[in-house]
Amino acid sequence: MIVMKFGGTSVESSEAIERVAKIVGSRRKQSPVVVVSAMAKVTDQLVAMGHKASSGDCEASIGLLQSLRERHLQAALELLGAKKCAALVPKLETHFSELENFLRGLAAVRELTPRGSDYLLSFGELLSSLIVADAFAVRGLNAAWVDSRECLVTDDKHTRALPQMPQTRERSKKKISPLLSKKRIPVMGGFIASTADGVPTTLGRGGSDYSAAIIGAALDAARIEIWTDVEGMMTTDPRLCPDARTIERISFNEAAELAYFGAKVLHPATLLPAIHQNIPVYVLNSRNLRSTGTQITARTPHSPDTFRAITAKTGVSIVNVVASRGIMVHGFLRSVFEALDRHSTSVDIVAISEVSMSFTMETKGIPKGLLTEMEQIADVTCEDQQAIICLVGEDIHGKPGIAASVFNTIAEAEVNIRMISQGASEINISFVVKESDVPRAVRRLHEHFFPAKGPALSLQKTQEQRQGRGTRVNGNASHGKNGAGKKKSARESKAAKSVLGEKSAAIRPGLNL
Ligand code: ADP
Ligand code: ASP
Ligand code: MG
Repeated sequence: MIVMKFGGTSVESSEAIERVAKIVGSRRKQSPVVVVSAMAKVTDQLVAMGHKASSGDCEASIGLLQSLRERHLQAALELLGAKKCAALVPKLETHFSELENFLRGLAAVRELTPRGSDYLLSFGELLSSLIVADAFAVRGLNAAWVDSRECLVTDDKHTRALPQMPQTRERSKKKISPLLSKKRIPVMGGFIASTADGVPTTLGRGGSDYSAAIIGAALDAARIEIWTDVEGMMTTDPRLCPDARTIERISFNEAAELAYFGAKVLHPATLLPAIHQNIPVYVLNSRNLRSTGTQITARTPHSPDTFRAITAKTGVSIVNVVASRGIMVHGFLRSVFEALDRHSTSVDIVAISEVSMSFTMETKGIPKGLLTEMEQIADVTCEDQQAIICLVGEDIHGKPGIAASVFNTIAEAEVNIRMISQGASEINISFVVKESDVPRAVRRLHEHFFPAKGPALSLQKTQEQRQGRGTRVNGNASHGKNGAGKKKSARESKAAKSVLGEKSAAIRPGLNL
């Protein structure tokens, strides 16, 4: 069996869901299990409803609910026709009235707890999965809606719950395997789960990718496919840099590093279950039915590029902690780490001296009590609106001059670097810059390390760049967000073929739709 996950934009409208049905139909023989996100922007709207209701503005939150209701009913009608839609409407209406009751209750108590938030956000995926399942059935696919909350079991860390794999495996097998043996196509919502006692949880924003990987691992899938709105994993975020190219193959380690450092195309935890069971993951474009996208596997062939990709994580703060005078220096670092541990906080980049420490954290993830606690032993300052830029590539290991090349390029872009890290894994170079410098820095780095023509540049600048003309973009190399594919040169195509022929033919079947 295979798992196919479709993100918010892939199910954003009736036309998008039509395309999804075609894609799934073409994989019918491979026993797909389909995981869908909420329709695009729906989770954000549910968040907004929660804020409005909990701040006492009940009517505004009910107003948002009305437009959400209309959007779903409209999509259902377009996909199912009046008669079949009438059969689904009562189920959808039950969810809308539960949601309305919840919002009214929230407006009365004026407090949205993490547990309440998980309940609220679960409606997005419940609604979309019900509509998609019926849309499949109308198009001749033998679909069966499955309640993800009865399959995915997590701990009770609401808003970012962690899967409990043994129970998830057991429940998923029990629910899904009988459907697959009857040649049915299970359709379930991503992102949502429940504790062993049945309390709804979510896996964190963007968590449908993670759901797909968890289900894939639980059912020993042959492949996990993440269908999204771009051609695959790209050399950088195409929204940041229109010259970004699709990466044909990338390793688990590289892709995980990119996801962790901001490549939104994959939820950061997605690859863990896949790595554990060595299941290949594909990132594919749902707007391009012929998409071959990116293949993510344990090992990849050598790439001529110095780096595989560049990513940026915004919304980061630098926290500087300097030991107060009179504090016992030898216990200082331990005290700081213990405070971080007590507040269950994780840091990204750390710079340490005997009496001071700077680290970066997601601004929204800094617990209020942490800074107060550290102020007992240190002078603490916090700088917001920072970003981490990360260049990832397994082949940088042991090659001299690469860091110099990165930092020269950044200097040429006149961007100031605040912190630097080259991780122990030696597959990334990361550094911190002001958030507002990210577009300039990333574009310049991309231009330098992924020039549009010829084999990728390594440590030398192109002649053109040295003469201050920058790098020209090849007219054919369009990598638009909506899936305009790259027209490969004959040389590139040949190289790609030999790579695929050599290593991946066995695990790349069925990708030509
Ligand atoms: P979905 O709704 O399908 O889950 P997301 O919006 O979560 O889609 O992720 C896809 C988006 O990720 C793309 O539109 C793109 O802007 C962004 N992105 C960031 N970095 C990358 C990257 N390196 N490669 C591809 N997409 C990226
Ligand atoms: N709908 C959820 C979100 O917007 C999960 C996802 O899209 O993966 O965060
Ligand atoms: Mg996503």
